[in-house]
Amino acid sequence: MKAKRLILLGPPGAGKGTQSERLVVDLGIPQVSTGDLLRAARKAGTDLGNQAKDFMDAGKLVPDELVVALVEARLREDDAQVGYILDGFPRTEAQAEAMTQRDIRIERVVNLQVPNEKLIGRLSGRRVCRECGASFHVQFKPTKVEDACDKCGGETYQRKDDSPAVIAQRLETFAAQTAPLIAYYDRFGLLRHVDGQGAMGDVYEGIVAALEV
Ligand SMILES: [Zn+2]
Repeated sequence: MKAKRLILLGPPGAGKGTQSERLVVDLGIPQVSTGDLLRAARKAGTDLGNQAKDFMDAGKLVPDELVVALVEARLREDDAQVGYILDGFPRTEAQAEAMTQRDIRIERVVNLQVPNEKLIGRLSGRRVCRECGASFHVQFKPTKVEDACDKCGGETYQRKDDSPAVIAQRLETFAAQTAPLIAYYDRFGLLRHVDGQGAMGDVYEGIVAALEV
C-alpha cells in the first residue's frame, strides 16, 4: 500500500515541483499549496481570507494558526479525501506541531537530498530576459544566441538572487529552518530520505518506493 497523505521536502532546486506534478497525476491526489490557498481565500473574501489579508497588507507573516486553519478547510474538500501533497507547508516545527494538534494526517514525509554544490550549479544557471522576463537556463534551456532572449532578442542576465553567493545563503537558511522539521517527522517514523541527484525518472522511482507503507 502506498502512503497518499504526503509532504515533500527539499531545498530550492531539488526538483520538488516536477516530482509533485507527477505524483499528483499518478496518485490522483491534489497538491495543496499554502501560497495558492492564501491567494484564493483572499480573493474569495472568506472570513479566513480577510484575516489573512490584514496580515499580508501590513507586510506581516500570516500566523501559523490561520494558515493551518486554511489547510484544514482545504483538506475537507472532496478531492482531498483520498490524499494530498502539501506544498510549502509546514516550514517549521511549530507549524508541524500545529498540524498534529489539529489531527491533519501525514503518512509519509519524503526528504529530497541534493548536495549544495549541485544545487548552486543548477540554480545559478538561470538567466532572465530584461525585456520580456522569459526565463532560460545555461545548461537545461540555453538561449539560441548567447545572452539574447529567444522570444524577443532582449538581453538575458543573472538576477542577483541567482548568484552563487546568494543561493548559498538561501540554502543555508533553508537547511537551518528545515532540520528541526526533519527531526520532528523522524521521531514519528514518517521520514524517508531520497537521493535527488539522479535523472528525473530515477528520482521519481525513489520517491514512489519511499511511499510504501
Ligand atoms: Zn525577452
